[in-house]
Amino acid sequence: FISVKNLQKSYGALDVLKDVSFDVEKGDVIAVIGSSGSGKSTMLRCLIGLEQIGGGTVSVDGDDMIRDGKYSSKEQVKSITAKMGMVFQNFNLFPHLTVRKNLEMPYRLMHREVDEAQTHALCDSLLQKVGMLPKADAMPAQLSGGQQQRVAIARAMMLSPEIMLFDEPTSALDPELTGEVLGVIRQLAKEHMTMIVVTHEMSFARDVATRVLFMDDGLILEEGSPEEIFQQPKNQRTREFLSNFI
Ligand code: ATP
Ligand code: MG
Repeated sequence: FISVKNLQKSYGALDVLKDVSFDVEKGDVIAVIGSSGSGKSTMLRCLIGLEQIGGGTVSVDGDDMIRDGKYSSKEQVKSITAKMGMVFQNFNLFPHLTVRKNLEMPYRLMHREVDEAQTHALCDSLLQKVGMLPKADAMPAQLSGGQQQRVAIARAMMLSPEIMLFDEPTSALDPELTGEVLGVIRQLAKEHMTMIVVTHEMSFARDVATRVLFMDDGLILEEGSPEEIFQQPKNQRTREFLSNFI
């Protein structure tokens, strides 16, 4: 479904992604783990078009976003990145809009043909799904971090993504709030949503991921099933990294 080959990205002299290749099948839940600075966020940002890619090939559903370092047309890149939704570490809700408007405003910009009643109905069903319908008229600042993050997930889902990218969705949360957000992501996994989740929650990765990628210094050093990565990591760096979590 998604194919990434020899992805490269530098900031000046700093090679942040050196040579990253992996494939994502429909319904996969890919957990990306690795130490700080290894390039995990940069990789997601490249996929969704927030960073200019330096080299390599990314294709989605057989359509190239970039091939051998050469981008496809603006329209094609846009139609590919529109298949992706992203949830950031720090929620990124619009602070001056209610929960409902946070979901409806971006949707209305994309779907001018849909009327208000239908937009409301979709918004309600997604807020219901993440347990936030009772707070539809609240402002983001009135919500806990976990609640804001659940709204951010619902907002990304409004645009019917075919794949969801999560960048450490719980790392800005107090421990007692991480469970409610991970619960929503688990539910999406049950519904066979295709996802790439950068996370430091190893037990979540072990339970929910279909595959785990270990990134180190701009490379995927090891890739495998959760059993392979967590029970018998082959690479010395993977073993060292995981030993920090025991
Ligand atoms: P963390 O676990 O801390 O979130 P990460 O794996 O997500 O780390 P990235 O944020 O992708 O790491 O950063 C990879 C490297 O790229 C780091 O060395 C970082 O300093 C550098 N970097 C990231 N963004 C920029 C930027 N806009 N300009 C220059 N360097 C950057
Ligand atoms: Mg990061």
